[in-house]
Amino acid sequence: MEAYCLKCKEKREAIDVETVTMKNGKPAQQGKCPVCGTKMFKIGAAK
Ligand SMILES: [Zn+2]
Repeated sequence: MEAYCLKCKEKREAIDVETVTMKNGKPAQQGKCPVCGTKMFKIGAAK
């Protein structure tokens, strides 16, 4: 998934992407920045 890394301040393709469900029952995706390892998060189901 493509997500914005807050640390790099750039959009990157995340690694170790997992689909998770938020507390409100909506799907989200969680991954890691391949450069700095910061957690990335994106609301919405995988495409
Ligand atoms: Zn980063």
